[in-house]
Amino acid sequence: MARVNRSGFLAIAVAFHLVYIWSIFDIYFVSPVVSGMREFRVERPEGVEAPAKRLMLFVGDGLRADKAFQSFPEPHPKSEADLVPRPLAPFLRSRVLEHGTFGVSHTRVPTESRPGHVALIAGLYEDVSAVTTGWKLNPVNFDSVFNRSRHTWSWGSPDILPMFQLGAVPGRVDAFTYAAEDEDYSQDAVQLDIWVFDRVKALFAEAARNATLDAALRQDKSVFFLHLLGLDTNGHAYRPYSIEYLNNIKVVDEGIKEITKIVDDFYNDGKTAYVFTADHGMSDWGSHGDGHPDNTRTPLVAWGSGVAKPVITPDSVAPGHDDLSADWGLDHIQRHDVAQADVAALMAYLAGLEFPVNSVGELPLSFLSGDIAAKSEAFLANARGILDMYRIKEELKKKTELRYRPFKAFDDYEHSVEHRLAAIKGLIEAGKNEEAIEETAALVKVGLEGLRYLQTYDWLFLRALITIGYLGWIAFALTTVIDLHVLHGKSQTSRTLTGSLVFSSVLVLLYSSFVISKSPLTYYAYAVFPVAFWEEVYARRHALTEGRKVLFGNITSARELVVLLLKAATFVGLIECLALGYIYREFFSVVFVGAAFWPVFYGMGFLQENRSLVGIWFAACLTMSTFTLLPAMKIEDLNLILSGGALMAAIGIIYLAFEKRLLAKSGLAGDSTAPADNALSRSLVGVQIGFIVLAMAVTRSSVISLQAKEGLPKGNQIVGWSILVLSLCMPFAHRLQPNNHYLHRLMVIFLTFAPLFVILTISYEGLFYLGFSVTLITWVRLEHAVYTFSSIPPQSRTTKTKRSPIVPTALSSSPFRSLTLADARVSLFFLTLLQSAFFSTGNVASVSSFSLDSVYRLIPIFDPFSQGALLLLKLLIPFALISANLGILNKRLGVAPSALFMLVMAISDFLTLNFFWVVKDEGSWLEIGSTISHFFIASLLCIFVAALEGVSEMFIEGLRWRMGMEQG
Ligand SMILES: [Zn+2]
Repeated sequence: MARVNRSGFLAIAVAFHLVYIWSIFDIYFVSPVVSGMREFRVERPEGVEAPAKRLMLFVGDGLRADKAFQSFPEPHPKSEADLVPRPLAPFLRSRVLEHGTFGVSHTRVPTESRPGHVALIAGLYEDVSAVTTGWKLNPVNFDSVFNRSRHTWSWGSPDILPMFQLGAVPGRVDAFTYAAEDEDYSQDAVQLDIWVFDRVKALFAEAARNATLDAALRQDKSVFFLHLLGLDTNGHAYRPYSIEYLNNIKVVDEGIKEITKIVDDFYNDGKTAYVFTADHGMSDWGSHGDGHPDNTRTPLVAWGSGVAKPVITPDSVAPGHDDLSADWGLDHIQRHDVAQADVAALMAYLAGLEFPVNSVGELPLSFLSGDIAAKSEAFLANARGILDMYRIKEELKKKTELRYRPFKAFDDYEHSVEHRLAAIKGLIEAGKNEEAIEETAALVKVGLEGLRYLQTYDWLFLRALITIGYLGWIAFALTTVIDLHVLHGKSQTSRTLTGSLVFSSVLVLLYSSFVISKSPLTYYAYAVFPVAFWEEVYARRHALTEGRKVLFGNITSARELVVLLLKAATFVGLIECLALGYIYREFFSVVFVGAAFWPVFYGMGFLQENRSLVGIWFAACLTMSTFTLLPAMKIEDLNLILSGGALMAAIGIIYLAFEKRLLAKSGLAGDSTAPADNALSRSLVGVQIGFIVLAMAVTRSSVISLQAKEGLPKGNQIVGWSILVLSLCMPFAHRLQPNNHYLHRLMVIFLTFAPLFVILTISYEGLFYLGFSVTLITWVRLEHAVYTFSSIPPQSRTTKTKRSPIVPTALSSSPFRSLTLADARVSLFFLTLLQSAFFSTGNVASVSSFSLDSVYRLIPIFDPFSQGALLLLKLLIPFALISANLGILNKRLGVAPSALFMLVMAISDFLTLNFFWVVKDEGSWLEIGSTISHFFIASLLCIFVAALEGVSEMFIEGLRWRMGMEQG
C-alpha cells in the first residue's frame, strides 16, 4: 500500500467501518428461515373433527397487558357513578372469568408491529435484519397459519396485511385495508378499528345474499384476522394512560363482543375458536420497540371451541399470578403465560391446520380443552415440526463445513432425535401421557438449543477475525497519524520478501477456507482488512520507532514516567466511562463534573491568567452534567421549550449589543472586526434572532392545538417549515458581508440551528443546545489558552519546567506543528463531547422509541421515513456544531488540517471494540439487542467523524488565520 494521504485515509476509514458494521448481520442476524421441512399436524382418525372449524384472531395492536385488565374510571364520564373505576374490556373479561383461558404473551424485541405479527401468525422470531430490509414485504417467504388455512379473510392496516398475503399461496389470503393516509395521528384513531368491525359485519351480512360467499365462509379451516391499529396509533399520539387509549380499549371490547355474536349466530354450531392478543405493548411515553416490560407483555385471551375453561381457585391466589396481575381482580383464575410464537402453534392446533413449518412455537397445552391423550399427541406433532427444522439446518451446515462439529446433546444414538421420538411414541401408546408430555417438552427444549447452536456455529471464528480487524485498524490509523503528523511523512517503508509472503499466504488460506465453506461474500471483505492493516503497520515499523522517540523522548525521569502512566490510566478510565455511559447516562454527569476541574491541573498561574474563561468552563460543565440526570424519555413541556428559546434569543441579542467589544477583546491577530459595524451583517443576525422568536410563537400555538386534539393548523405547518428552511439558508446570506472572526462564525452557526431546536424540542433539549454551544466555544478557547501557556512560558514562570513540544529540527520544515501527546487529550475531549452530543438528550431506547411529539408540529400524518428524517436532523445538529468547533480548534492549535480528526478516528474504535466484546451471545433478547445497538452507534460515530471533517471544512472555510502571528 502506498502512503495514504488525508482523503485516502478518510476513504479507508469509511469503507472499513461500513464493511465491519455489516459483520453484525453475519454474526447475529442470520435469518432463521430455511425451507424443505416436512409438514406436521395432529393426525385424527376418520370422522374425528379438529377442535374448531374456524378461527378468529383479534390483534389489538399496541395493547399492553395491564391496561387490558385493570380498572379505570369511564373515559368519557356522564355521571358521578362513571368515575368509579371499572374494567374497560368487560366482554373479554367475561371470557376470562367464565369461558376461556388467559395469560400474558411475552414478546421479544424489537417490539414492533412486523416482528410481533410474524411471531404470532408464523410462529417465528424474525431476525432484526428483516425489519431493516423490508418494512412491509417479506425479504424471505415464510410459512404462516394463514398459509395453512383453507382460506383467510383479513382486515386492517396496509402495513401488516400484505406481508401475510404475499407470502401465502396466491388467492388463499384476502386482505382488506384502508389507505395509509387514514392513519392520521392528529385525529382519534379509534375510527380505524370501527372501520375494521364494520367491514367484518358487512361481510357476514353479505353472505345472506351471496350464496358463493356463504359457502366459502362455511368451509372448515377458515381463519379470520382482525388487525386493530387504533390502540397503537392512539398510544403513540396520546400515550397509554390517555382518555383516547382507554376509550379505544372500550371500543375494541365492544366490537369483539358484537363480532362474536354475529359469528356465533351465523354458524350456530359452536365450532368457532377465538383468540385475542396484541403484537406488542406500549411504554408510558407512547412508544415501543425496546425490551421494556410494558412493551413485551401483551394480553392473551382464548375462548370458544377447543379452548379450556378457566381453572378457578376460589379461596386462594391461583397459580401464575405475580405483581403484574395483582390489581387485575383475577386472582382466583389461573394465569397461563406463553411466549409469543406459541400463539401460532395454538391457533394451528385449534383450527386443525399443519403447524407452520418455520414455527418454533410450543403448543401451550393448558389452553386446550382436550383430554391428556389428545394433548400428548398434539404436542408430539408440534415437536416433530420443530425438530424437522433442526434436521434441515444441520444438513445444510454439514454440506458446507469441512469438519462439522455436531451438536453434543443429539450426538450419540441414545440421544438422537429419532430414538427419542420413538420413545415418546412408545410412551403414548402405553398410555403414559404425563411422561410423554414431559419427554416431549425436554426434547423440544434441546431441539431449540440445537437450532441456536447451528445459528451461532460460526461465531467464534468470525468474532476473532473482526477483533483482529479492529485492532488492525487502530494500529494502522495511529501509524498513519504518526507518519503524517508527527514525522510529516519523512519515514521510509520497509517491506521484506518474508513479510509479504507471510501476509499473503494468510489471506490465501482464509480465502480458500471460505471457498470450501461457501461463505458469504462479506467474509472475504472481513478478511482483507486485518491482513492489509497489519501488513502496512509492519512495513512502517521504523516510523513507529521514530515516532516513539519523538513522542516519548522527553520522558527521562522516573517521575515523568509515573505521570505518563497516570495519564494513560485516566485515558483508559475515561473511555470506560464513555462505554458505561451508553448504558447508564449518569456516567456522563460524572465525566462533566470531573472535566469542570480540568484547568486546575495547569496550576495557579494558568487559573489567574484565564480567570473568566475558567469560570465559564466550570459553570458550563456543571450545566452539562445535569442533562444526563434528567430522564431520556421526555414529556412535552411547553415552558421548558419556550425558556430554551428565550435564552437562545437573549444570547443573540447580547451578542448584537456587545459585538464590537466582544470581537475586539477575544480578537487574535488575523481576526477581522471591521465588518462588525456593517449594518447588513448586523441585520442578518437580527433576522436570525427574529426566526427564534417566530419559532417560539408558532411552536406554542402548535403544541396547544395538538394537545387539544384540534390537529395541526395548516398555517402553523407552513410557517414552521418556512422557518426551518430559511434559517438553514442564513449562513449563505452571511456571505454577502463576510466576517472572518471565529466568534462571529460560531454565533452565526449557533443562530442557524436555534429555531430548529425550538420547533423540534419536546422538553429540555433546547436548554441542552444552549449549554452545549457554550461548552464547545469555551473548550476551544481554553484549549488554545492551555496550548499557548504550556508551549511558550513567559519569563515569570521560570520555576516551571519548559514544556514545549519537542520537534526534531530535521522535521521542522512542515508548515504545521507536529502532534504531541497533549493532542491525544484534545482528541479524547472531542470524543467525549461527541458522545455527549447524543447521550445528553437521549439514549438508545429514546431513539428506538421514536417519540413523535416534536415532528407532529411539522408532519401530522404518520410517515415513518419523513418523520424519521426530521428526528435524525435534530439528532445531527449538535454534531454539526461540534465539528465546526473542532475545525476551528485544529487551526488555532496550528496542527495540520484533519490531524485531530484522524486521531479521534483511531481512538474512537477502542470504544467500538469495547462494545463488540460485550455484545451478548446469551441472555435475554433485550440484552443482545441493546448491546448490538451500542456497537452500532459507536461504529457509526467513527464514520460520522469522517463526515464531520468535511462539514467542518465547510464551516471554517475562508476563516483567515495567520500562522505564527497569534498573540502569545
Ligand atoms: Zn404494532
